[in-house]
Amino acid sequence: MKLLNCQNDNEKFIGLLFEDRTLNLTKGIQLFSSIYEKEINIPTLIEELLCIENLALYLEKVLIFIKHHNLINTLSIDSYKILPPITRPSKIIALGRNYLEHAKETGYNAPKEPIFFSKSVSSMIGHNEKIIYPTWLTRVDPEVELGVIIGKKAKDVSEETAMDYVLGYTIINDVTARDMQTEDLKISNPWFRSKSFDTFCPIGPYLVLKEQVKDPHNLNIELRVNGIIRQKDNTKNLIFKIPYIISYITRHMTLEPGDIIATGTPSGIAPIKPGDIIEAEIEGIGVLKNIVVES
Ligand code: MG
Repeated sequence: MKLLNCQNDNEKFIGLLFEDRTLNLTKGIQLFSSIYEKEINIPTLIEELLCIENLALYLEKVLIFIKHHNLINTLSIDSYKILPPITRPSKIIALGRNYLEHAKETGYNAPKEPIFFSKSVSSMIGHNEKIIYPTWLTRVDPEVELGVIIGKKAKDVSEETAMDYVLGYTIINDVTARDMQTEDLKISNPWFRSKSFDTFCPIGPYLVLKEQVKDPHNLNIELRVNGIIRQKDNTKNLIFKIPYIISYITRHMTLEPGDIIATGTPSGIAPIKPGDIIEAEIEGIGVLKNIVVES
């Protein structure tokens, strides 16, 4: 089940990908709840679904209802704007050097413990939105990453139970002001500013529920610039796997529902320039496309 946050004029609604078209799930839930439930706040964003227990099962029921009542009225994917799959997470945590070949290409060995940092929430943009390249930056790189979306509050969770806290997966492009990051590293300054420019976190287009992903640690992952492959790997090569990452992060801080973890990028990093078209693809998750423009 692929969910997406959509905006049509001033109206926001949750979409569900249905045979290459989009079904208005917000309308479906409205009709379903008017018959089966009393007083429910009708969700217009995916994050408003997070309070529903057994969400995958609930959405299956809504979908059966929609099909049964012949309420399938789908939209062409080009007829609305796609917003990030979670529009306002409490935080975005990203992993550094979590593929060996990428650690090596940046001059490092595999880390002994996960290296994690934050990207600003305000850096997020959706599929098809523009990455704005500030002209005073000397080098900007895209980084394709598997994104994990947290479904329920997690603190001090074990590796064994960590996957219970995952809602689903998405694609993240961890755009980085590389020269700035390199200079900051030299003087032991944090990575935050080089990772957090406005528009430097394209994300989406879909949130794929975890029930639909057989093995998140066996997905082909690829980044193309103007159709040419730059990064190509498989998530089986993640140094720290998702359960360990969640367990490790929650030793330090609480993960809230809707929080996003970018699990790290494979090797093949290289600069982009205004005019470039960036496509980040993960097997079974989708293709996240953005164009680069000058500020
Ligand atoms: Mg990264």
